[in-house]
Amino acid sequence: MDIKKVYEELTKQIEKEKIKIDEPMKNHTTFKTGGNADLFLKLDKIEDIQYGLKVAKEYGVPFFVLGNGSNILVLDKGIRGIVIKPDLKNVIIEKEPDDKVKVKVGAGVMLPFLARKLYEQKIAGMEFACGIPGSIGGAVYMNSGAHGSEMENVVKTTTYLTPEGEVLVLKNQEQDFSYRHSVFEKMQGVIVESELELMIGDKEEIKRKMDENTAFRKAKQPITLPSAGSFFKRGDDFIAAKLIDDCKLKGTKVGGAQVSTLHAGFIVNSGNATSKDIIELAKLVKEKVEKEFGKVLIPEVQIIGEE
Ligand SMILES: Cc1cc2nc3c(=O)[nH]c(=O)nc-3n(C[C@H](O)[C@H](O)[C@H](O)COP(=O)(O)OP(=O)(O)OC[C@H]3O[C@@H](n4cnc5c(N)ncnc54)[C@H](O)[C@@H]3O)c2cc1C
Repeated sequence: MDIKKVYEELTKQIEKEKIKIDEPMKNHTTFKTGGNADLFLKLDKIEDIQYGLKVAKEYGVPFFVLGNGSNILVLDKGIRGIVIKPDLKNVIIEKEPDDKVKVKVGAGVMLPFLARKLYEQKIAGMEFACGIPGSIGGAVYMNSGAHGSEMENVVKTTTYLTPEGEVLVLKNQEQDFSYRHSVFEKMQGVIVESELELMIGDKEEIKRKMDENTAFRKAKQPITLPSAGSFFKRGDDFIAAKLIDDCKLKGTKVGGAQVSTLHAGFIVNSGNATSKDIIELAKLVKEKVEKEFGKVLIPEVQIIGEE
């Protein structure tokens, strides 16, 4: 790919300061590892995202959509092509009869910010997400969840751009949500907005739940170290963290990557880890668990880019 040519084409519509060349992905992922992206676009207008997609298609350049980078591992040679980060930050709250509330949220809005904003307006239903460090777009894509709820329970519709830039609106059932899965995994486009269906609740009760969830995370998760949350998915009949703990792998290190000493399901960057360290540690964990228990661990974290 001729990066300069693609860059020039992009600048015909998109302001230069929104386009970065050779951008280190370690600055955009919670693991704080990973090589550079050829082109990185942080876009706050749907028309600019559509234009980015059009240019990618015209030049045959692959693109990757980034949220807050809290569920991905970018490999050390980085990402060839264009990374598009939708920076759509709208939150529109519409109160309806019977204490129902419709909330339209841009894909770039962070879950903890949204949970707090809704709490201030006595709106219940997003307390579960107050400690998940992801964007709405990433959370819908992943059907993120915690503390007994998940995005599936609150998302009514999602507005989405196909790789050709066409606008589609999908209803909840059409989003094919299941555990850490949605239809968007196979659609390869860009989520731009979701409409949530929530309820007016009791402000004290909302606060109590959020405080409880936050305290749980502080006590049980290594939130002060870079990670991407639970590295492996829960199995049908097992909890990955429990099996890893039972293999006595807590604290095991490869380079700067470490199985958290606090929560065996988390791999953390304990300082200067490379993505290769993380991959090798994940491989070691997977092999040990398979050998000891015959269970196959599947990563929840999405691994992207070049090794
Ligand atoms: C400390 C910590 C705790 C965590 N706890 C939890 C938890 O309790 N529960 C949980 O489910 N997860 C948890 N996670 C994982 C992660 O935060 C969530 O999965 C989060 O919702 C991912 O959102 P993101 O914006 O960071 O997505 P990213 O990591 O940027 O992307 C994830 C996937 O979504 C796609 N994507 C992102 N935005 C868009 C978009 N606008 N359009 C189309 N595709 C898009 C990406 O291409 C990628 O495939 C945790 C992570 C950390 C670091």
